Parts: sequence; structure tokens; C-alpha cells
Amino acid sequence: MSPALHALFWTLLKTGDRVVYPKVSYMAVYRLFHELFNNKFGVETVMVDMTDFDAVKKAITPGTRLVHVETPDNPTDGISDIAAIAKIAHENGAILSVDNTFASPLNQHPLDLGADFVVESLTKYINGHGDAQGGAIISNDLETMDRIRYEAQVNVGSVISPFNAWQIFRGAVTFPLRMERINASTQKIAEWLEQRQNVTFVSYPGLPSNPGHELAKKQMKHGFGGVISFGIAADDKAVERFCAALKVVTFAVSLGHDESLIFPQPSYDERINLYPEKFRKGFIRFSIGLEDPDDIIGDLDQALKAIGL
Ligand SMILES: *Cc1c(COP(=O)(O)O)cnc(C)c1O
Repeated sequence: MSPALHALFWTLLKTGDRVVYPKVSYMAVYRLFHELFNNKFGVETVMVDMTDFDAVKKAITPGTRLVHVETPDNPTDGISDIAAIAKIAHENGAILSVDNTFASPLNQHPLDLGADFVVESLTKYINGHGDAQGGAIISNDLETMDRIRYEAQVNVGSVISPFNAWQIFRGAVTFPLRMERINASTQKIAEWLEQRQNVTFVSYPGLPSNPGHELAKKQMKHGFGGVISFGIAADDKAVERFCAALKVVTFAVSLGHDESLIFPQPSYDERINLYPEKFRKGFIRFSIGLEDPDDIIGDLDQALKAIGL
């Protein structure tokens, strides 16, 4: 769906515009705004902690063209207040786009909360089987949607292959059922991880201990999604050994597949210093799939023991 994000930004922004974007986000958003749109096109790109509403309020000045939000965010599961940010954005004449990939459309409806554009990765929960890539832009602003098609569909290369489209349509039929199961399994696994010794932190919006929990309860429904960000008391090498020792869970990137996928976020990651302090050591992103949650818990436990934790 990166082409969907790119198509949206490419269509909406021009030289001299100001965009406010999150400190923690999907890698393509970070690179597009941190390195490319500013240097190539002269767009003023302002990075802000989107989970800190006071900071967001200060960053959205009159003349801001676009505010981009991702909640829960990738990879720390931070929660931002869509309705409050929509209000401030609109008061300043800005457009709000929301990346809804982590929540999925079962759990969160950003348009109802005031967003102007929603971007979904079809590659993740909607296809759900890890075998096709795609993205979608959703909006009630049909005039701009036509502009996106005209300006970006061909020019940015956002044309899906028919076979991928067919796979995604097939996967989408079972999306709500899969997502309900994933919501429930993830909640159970997050609660287990939180009480396991040698787990240094668990970030999941469904946990009452999470700073974003009350807000997530207000703006999400059915559940809190399928990604847990957590830390273990281990260095980069031991974290890799832990991931490799898992037997039910697959050690691979991406998320929202039928299989559970786990991937370390090592201390040498280019963005590690942008994450809240506790995420800078032993940090792992974990996407829960459709396996029996008790099998997953057993697997996590044996792999922790395998590295002496
Ligand atoms: C994976 C992801 C994307 C991009 O999706 P692809 O379909 O893999 O290109 C965008 N946003 C978030 C939050 C993601 O996790």
C-alpha cells in the first residue's frame, strides 16, 4: 500500500505546503517526509509526537495543508486522538489523513471520527493470507478521489495486478471473522506477556496499563488489533535467538497474516531514537495470527526459556 500513501501525498501536496506527520509511523511515511518530499519538492515537513495532543496542537498552524496520523502506530502501538486532531486540523484549514492499517476497518472508522482520507494496507488483515500486496484510499471527497486517480494512478504506478486483486477479494470475505479471532487472541497473549518474568514492557492498547487505553476504548470497537510491541531482557543477538527458537510463530517481517509473524526492532534501527525510551532495547514487534492462542503462549514461553529467560 505504500503506493496508495504515495499517491495521496503526491496529489495533495505541492511546493511550499506544510505537512505535520508522526514521529512514529510506517517506514515509507517516515522516509517520504523526512527525506524525500522536503528535499525533492520543497514541502515543509514537521515531525511531531502524534500521541501528545498538546504538541500536535502547537504543530498545526494556519497554512498547514495536511496532517497525517497513524493509530495504533507502527511499530510501537501508540494511540493518537483522531477526533481531536481532526478538529484542530480543520480549524486550521488542513486535511486529515489516517493510516488505519494496524486497527483495520473492523476496529476503527476514521471517517466517522472526522478524517478526510483513510489509507488501508490490503496486504495485511484485509487480504489476510500474506500472499498479495495492495492498498486502498477511502474518502467521501469524490472530486479529490478523481484527482488521485488522474494524477497518481498511472504516474505513481498504483495499479494492482488482476491476480492480486482477486486474491484480496477472496481474502476479504473472511476478514471480519479473522479479525474478531485475532482481537481476542491478541488480548489474551498481551495479558500473558505482561505477567511473564523477563518481559520488560508490553505495549498493546487493549491493556489497562497502556497510556492510550482509555482513548483506544473510545475510538476503537470490537477489539484493539493484532499487533503487540514488547521488550525482553536481552541484547540484539539474544533477541534474534529468541525469534529463531519459536516453532509455532514465524520469524518474518510484515503483519496481519494467517500466520503469527515476529520481528525484532534492533538497537541499530535508523529510527530507534525516535521511539519512547523503553523501546530502545530488546524491542520486538509481534503480529498475532490465527493459530490457537494457547499454542502461541506455549511457544513464546519455550523460546524465552531457550535463551535463559
Ligand atoms: C505495512 C504497512 C503499510 C504498507 O503496506 P504494504 O501493503 O505492505 O505496502 C502502511 N502502513 C502501515 C501502518 C503498515 O503497517
